[in-house]
Amino acid sequence: SSSDIQANNSEGNLRSPICCIMGHVDTGKTKLLDCIRHTNVQEGEAGGITQQIGATYFPAENIRERTRELKADAKLNVPGLLVIDTPGHESFTNLRSRGSGLCDIAILVVDIMHGLEPQTIESLNLLRMRNTEFIVALNKVDRLYGWKTLRNAPIVKALKQQSKDVQNEFNMRVTSVITQFKEQGLNTELYYKNKDMGETFNIVPTSAISGEGVPDLLLLLVQWSQKTMIEKLTFKNELECTVLEVKVVEGHGTTIDVVLVNGVLHEGDQIVVCGMQGPIVTTIRALLTPHPMKELRVKGTYLHHKQIKAAQGIKISAQGLEHAIAGTGLYVVGPDDDLEEIKRSAMEDMESVLNRIEKTGEGVCVQASTLGSLEALLEFLKSPAVNIPVSGISIGPVHKKDVMRASVMLEKKKEYATILAFDVKVTTEVEEFAEDTGVKIFKADIIYHLFDQFKAYIDGIKEEKKKEAAEEAVFPCVLKIMRDCVFNKKDPIVLGVDVIEGVLKIVGTNPEEQQKMFGRHFDIEDELVSHISRKSIDVLKANYKKDESMPNENWRLLVKLKNLFKIQ
Ligand code: GDP
Repeated sequence: SSSDIQANNSEGNLRSPICCIMGHVDTGKTKLLDCIRHTNVQEGEAGGITQQIGATYFPAENIRERTRELKADAKLNVPGLLVIDTPGHESFTNLRSRGSGLCDIAILVVDIMHGLEPQTIESLNLLRMRNTEFIVALNKVDRLYGWKTLRNAPIVKALKQQSKDVQNEFNMRVTSVITQFKEQGLNTELYYKNKDMGETFNIVPTSAISGEGVPDLLLLLVQWSQKTMIEKLTFKNELECTVLEVKVVEGHGTTIDVVLVNGVLHEGDQIVVCGMQGPIVTTIRALLTPHPMKELRVKGTYLHHKQIKAAQGIKISAQGLEHAIAGTGLYVVGPDDDLEEIKRSAMEDMESVLNRIEKTGEGVCVQASTLGSLEALLEFLKSPAVNIPVSGISIGPVHKKDVMRASVMLEKKKEYATILAFDVKVTTEVEEFAEDTGVKIFKADIIYHLFDQFKAYIDGIKEEKKKEAAEEAVFPCVLKIMRDCVFNKKDPIVLGVDVIEGVLKIVGTNPEEQQKMFGRHFDIEDELVSHISRKSIDVLKANYKKDESMPNENWRLLVKLKNLFKIQ
């Protein structure tokens, strides 16, 4: 079957804002999405909500219906709201379009019982970096002790129903969260008290379980988008489209899931996408959306379309998409367009990433699921506090060839023979191969965790080296023999000493002992100094640069002794 759909054609010629959900793990991102999606399920109708590829579309009518109790007479000009289905970072970092963030607005979910958590801050920083508008959903209000459920009620109404104790706890927790945001340099306020929207970010208390505050959240999302982004949301015929995922689908080969932000796509359009091995030029074979009767779970039932207008999530089937990179822009070649120029544009995103690779060739390898997440990871590794050099990058699952590439470092700098794998699969086979080769693979879905693992590994190596070095390290010191403390003159010599300068340490292995004797070879007036060598100086330099046992004055003493021994 084929049909033309103009999913969210609007009178005002605005497209639907695109929204994604971010926040710390377990704050309720998935649940909130479910809640927004399924509110009307009990009533046996989905209220015009349509499941799209990678996203859910909420028509304005549905939002109007659900926010009736809020008595907002503001006109909804946008046709609806497109919410990206994958909550979390990837969905945000993935979504790029021509160098800017693709999400128009985000929901930053915070658990009211926990306040700000590490990924809240990570999300916050991403949002700021991309200059993306967002609304804080202060979720799980129903967990406040003694909360009385008022299903799907506006939050102010729900709060009025609560006991004084619940209200007090609520206020206390809100105040604390506002303070925590302030510590991050951000002004926030409950949206219904916010007199300075724009400067002060809105907080909407919600429950993803019983739905309180969800109408407020929906209305605010739409109102705020259409109030502040009219220009961005005005439908343009210029195509803006981003690859979300590259997937193999039975009967269609490799397909790409895209979000069409602006413009129209047609069956038969010639398109260009960024590929691992260069630009991919191909022709749209089919434009697919899920069958509305998805509940039946009939296999392979996609609707085919002759053309689709933004904003919409679409699956594209075409030849040669195997090496397409998720998170990059899709381009359509028009009759007057210069193909070579479009190819260059398509590869630009990739090049900006390639430019960040260490020119010296010394560094770890990093791998991520999409270009967007790879960029986020590179940006993080480059930050001064982290500062881990990168010598190679890749997108998609870790293969043997990636391990091979990382193994080159084994000879140059062993600790960099490492792959930091962010949100990608590593098969057992590859893992075993890496182990045999001596390449370390660290896997995580959270950037911070990757860093923590790598840092622990590096610290471990440093510790190990230090231990090895301790055997050869000779610390500089100047000793004075104490009078009346000559306990044994030889075999072994036992003397009481004052440490005048430097640090006196036990040596791991005893240096060859020459037959020396107190009173014959040296005497009470003689100063004793540590017996350093070129080798021992190098060992100290390599392993004790920032060690507490080697403060500046000890390095100065080392130089003095070096001159004394005439070491070159
Ligand atoms: P995500 O990791 O952010 O996607 O979090 P989930 O949506 O998976 O939720 C994590 C847990 O918190 C699940 O057990 C949810 O049932 C629970 N949860 C989510 N939202 C709420 C809420 O508003 N109230 C309560 N009481 N529990 C919630």
